[in-house]
Amino acid sequence: MRKRILLYGLIFLVSCAMLPGVRKVPLTGRSQLNLIDEQEINALSFKEYQKVLSESKVVTGGPQAAMVQKVGLRIQRAVETYFREQNNSDYLTNYRWEFNLIEDSKTANAWCMPGGKVAFYTGILPITADEAGLAVVMGHEIAHAIANHGNERMSQTLAMQKISGGIAGVISNDPEKASQIFMGALGIGVLLPFSRSNESEADYMGLMFMSMAGYNPEHAPLFWERMLKYTNGGGTPQFLSTHPSHETRIANLKKWLPEARTYYRPGGS
Ligand SMILES: [Zn+2]
Repeated sequence: MRKRILLYGLIFLVSCAMLPGVRKVPLTGRSQLNLIDEQEINALSFKEYQKVLSESKVVTGGPQAAMVQKVGLRIQRAVETYFREQNNSDYLTNYRWEFNLIEDSKTANAWCMPGGKVAFYTGILPITADEAGLAVVMGHEIAHAIANHGNERMSQTLAMQKISGGIAGVISNDPEKASQIFMGALGIGVLLPFSRSNESEADYMGLMFMSMAGYNPEHAPLFWERMLKYTNGGGTPQFLSTHPSHETRIANLKKWLPEARTYYRPGGS
């Protein structure tokens, strides 16, 4: 009996490993389903990103935009160094990082589209407060992109809506619908925010990434304390979904601090 269970277990494991689109998330090792070809989702992402930028007021000069650029680049480089050291630089081949600041003081938000297209809104800067605070949010957003949460979410959406033929079919038949599924899957502007587990995973990975880049990870719970105060003061945090609760996030981040310190490189890589 026991042998049989073991055999079935083995068959199950082998078939899981052979499923197309099953990938492992870096750092956490979680298995995820990415049904959409990376270059395909990036093509859609880069187009949508340009669309958002063209419809927004992008801040092109000044210290705030420069800081968004600086922090983004610093964490990007640290992530690249980490993957190189893991002999896994190929993982990053299709990323085209970009870090833009959008003038909108009423929006306390930031997001990252697949392939590394990051946007911050000026409304979140009073809460990030300083460079290290900004690195908390930047690490989190970069983590969403590295963990392919957009692809995972979109794969789920396609499966739920029973859309066959994949996203390529939707793009050619109904580009508007492809755009809606994409923005919805990312939780940008509407509908479906990332799941609680994806948010926690981005918190965890983001904490490690900011540490690799030489930012003290202790700033992460401090940022969330400020976010908590902002929300309690009646502010609407468009940044991320409302779950997990800020309290859970803070507790988790504090729990992960010892591990984050092992990645910490003062001065960055
Ligand atoms: Zn998030």
